[in-house]
Amino acid sequence: MARKSTKQKNEELEKEGKVLRHYGFKLRMKPNEKQKEQIHQTVGCSRFTFNFYLGERKEVYQLTHETLNVGEFKKSFNVLKEHSMFSWLKKVDKFALETAMEAVEDAFQRFFKGQNGFPKFKSKHKSEQCYTTKETNRNIKLDIEKQTIQLPKLGQVKVRLSKKHHQLFKNGLNGKIKTATIKYHSSGQYTVSLKMEEVIDLHETVDFSTVSDDKINGLDLGLNHFYIDSNGKKVDNPKFLKTKLKKLAKLQRQLKNKKIGSSNFNKLQQKISKLHLHIANMRKDFLHKESRKLVNENQVIVLEDLNVKGMIKNKRLARSIADVSWSMFKTFVSYKAAWANKKVILIDRFFASSKQCNGCKEKNTLLSLSDREWVCPKCGTTHDRDINAARNIKEEGIRILRTPLLVT
Ligand SMILES: [Zn+2]
Repeated sequence: MARKSTKQKNEELEKEGKVLRHYGFKLRMKPNEKQKEQIHQTVGCSRFTFNFYLGERKEVYQLTHETLNVGEFKKSFNVLKEHSMFSWLKKVDKFALETAMEAVEDAFQRFFKGQNGFPKFKSKHKSEQCYTTKETNRNIKLDIEKQTIQLPKLGQVKVRLSKKHHQLFKNGLNGKIKTATIKYHSSGQYTVSLKMEEVIDLHETVDFSTVSDDKINGLDLGLNHFYIDSNGKKVDNPKFLKTKLKKLAKLQRQLKNKKIGSSNFNKLQQKISKLHLHIANMRKDFLHKESRKLVNENQVIVLEDLNVKGMIKNKRLARSIADVSWSMFKTFVSYKAAWANKKVILIDRFFASSKQCNGCKEKNTLLSLSDREWVCPKCGTTHDRDINAARNIKEEGIRILRTPLLVT
């Protein structure tokens, strides 16, 4: 009874002119004390299950060079649960435990495809802990009016819907709930993330090679501004980020002077972890708004394909935050564009975008990073460094767009 992959389902749906669309959203949860306890127990059991299967699978492989597949393991796990020693596993949502086993399988699949490193054991010391359960026979239900969500073994849990959520659900919930991830953060926050699946009509194919130039926008992502586009529009990094990051650095310095494990240390650590979460949420909000605007206003968006894996290694805080933002922004723009039947073109990041004059194509090899403005030695045009770069990025995008073999 193999699970049908999205690709297989889409191949079937395509014949009817339809396609699957996945989307997700996150809600704040307000569980009562009993529900909190149940959540913590389920997280523990699902981590146990994940680590247990991972350990067994490694051991079996070392001893026999065979793979302990997830179906076989599920069977023996269910037998094990009947034993009095493991009866505590029966008190929690069984779908959460099943999902944990499937997560091990998925982690191995990604490892075999070279997408990830070797699967790691889950630690209970992370500031964020979660488990995922799946929808079976309508056991997960969101009641928008009552602001509650029904979850296996937890019953009705209160959730908080924002204005945005109310707007999103004004015609009811689109699609089917597939999974729910219940998370708690060491700052005391509980959330539930729902993954939804919806069948929508396939878009008509648009011939992007004929899109007029003014509907195409090139973006230069930078540290001074969040981005500058080829029309000269500058979007600044949100100001809050700078002040909050300063505050974060200060708290982290204070933490160094506290005795590890003391009550002051713990208090401060919780404060830090709350601030981290706050920064992450605000950043995400900013990125959603900016990507939405960009997709609404343009038909084709050209971005540099930033090598994020290489950049994350950079130790400077401001830089690493920017890196994370850019890669998240790229993702947001890409899927919003796909839904709106618009196009994103990623260009080679080594494409020399700053040094070339957008007017006469002369390369100014003497240009240094500190030059914000420069005059082209050949044609005499004065350039704003970033706008010139954005225009070059747009032009490279147009070149790719008009070369049919290069467009994917
Ligand atoms: Zn020039």
